Amino acid sequence: MRTISILGATGSIGASTLDLVRRNREDWQVIALTANGNVLELARLAKEFGAALAVVADEAALPQLREALSGSGIEAASGRQALCDAAACGADVTVAAIVGCAGLAPTMAAIQQGKTVALANKEALVSAGDVLMASVERYGATLLPLDSEHNAIFQCLAGNDLENVRRITLTASGGPFRTWDAAQLEAATAAQAVKHPNWSMGAKISVDSATMFNKGLELIEAWHLFPVGLERIQIVVHPQSVIHSLVEYRDGSTLAQLGPSDMRVPIASCLAWPDRMVTPMEPLDLPALGELTFFAPDEHLFPATRLAREAAETGGAAPAVLNAANEVAVAAFLAGQIGFTHIAANVERVLAGDIPPAPCSLDEVLTIDHDTRIVARELLELV
Ligand code: NDP
Repeated sequence: MRTISILGATGSIGASTLDLVRRNREDWQVIALTANGNVLELARLAKEFGAALAVVADEAALPQLREALSGSGIEAASGRQALCDAAACGADVTVAAIVGCAGLAPTMAAIQQGKTVALANKEALVSAGDVLMASVERYGATLLPLDSEHNAIFQCLAGNDLENVRRITLTASGGPFRTWDAAQLEAATAAQAVKHPNWSMGAKISVDSATMFNKGLELIEAWHLFPVGLERIQIVVHPQSVIHSLVEYRDGSTLAQLGPSDMRVPIASCLAWPDRMVTPMEPLDLPALGELTFFAPDEHLFPATRLAREAAETGGAAPAVLNAANEVAVAAFLAGQIGFTHIAANVERVLAGDIPPAPCSLDEVLTIDHDTRIVARELLELV
């Protein structure tokens, strides 16, 4: 039996992870579960899985959490430090699935335990790339990519030397607006943006998929996880989301990972690694799929991947700035304060400002994130 903690347990990745744990109860002991403010769901999960600790980020929610857990023997805590303490509680596997840069400090706390961290929280790696990867090295942690594309690449790389890689191809579904024109994109609503054609996900990543910022963030994520050089990582739109990514080797051989559009597959890969576990997925039915199609991304209509590539090329704090500006813009779009096309436009405006030098510590990343949010809100006139 191994121990597991899930940061962001009440979210989409948290639910998929707990579904697998539920199907394999004899293999897992749940230590800590965390949420932002969804107290009742967190308490329900903590009781179902017999967690030792339940933490909400929102300090005001602590009395309600205590009440919901009363008599269960489960410890309740709240606040940012409590999230980091939960992440540092020494679980064999920590699933980092908080959305946004809010997950960075807890993810770093988990990495510092030197155990296994399954990383879904791509914003943490985009914001703190070098700092986070240096901590993985320093503390001897095992960082497993849980994001489906990166997990696919990780699987395609197994047993191969990065020096033999000619090219990595990240596939993108293209999101719900893949075939829309400029006028339609101008009028796109939040309700339309969160309706992804292939995947069921949280609101923020759904909007990121619609703008293609998700693929931009993933480009930077891949650049850190698989250091083959930015110029060797390309993005291809593949609307069926069956091939999750590909690795081409210098002998001309290309390996791809295929599977259903269900995050339980890459999560299972992380939970069982280096072994395999059973999932409830139906076998892949290629004749039923019929055909798989591929397109170059349209960076005129969807500038996010260009902005991400440019931010990586610029270096310094540019990826952290891009991420923070995007988080502010997505929140404003979801709140109905700005239009869909303003998301990328505003990220570009923020990136056109002064870019701080590369952060050297977690605190420096958090300061850059904080300061960028102020600038981004000012530009959006949200202050
Ligand atoms: P959700 O919005 O569904 O869930 C987010 C989780 O994080 C919830 O548990 C939420 O708690 C918690 N949370 C939100 N804000 C904070 C905060 N400020 N402090 C602490 N906890 C917080 O997101 P997803 O599960 O979709 O995504 C999670 C991460 O995984 C993201 O980084 C995303 O990019 C990545 N990812 C997701 C995929 C997917 O299919 N969903 C695929 C690949 C990567 P509460 O419920 O209380 O609000």
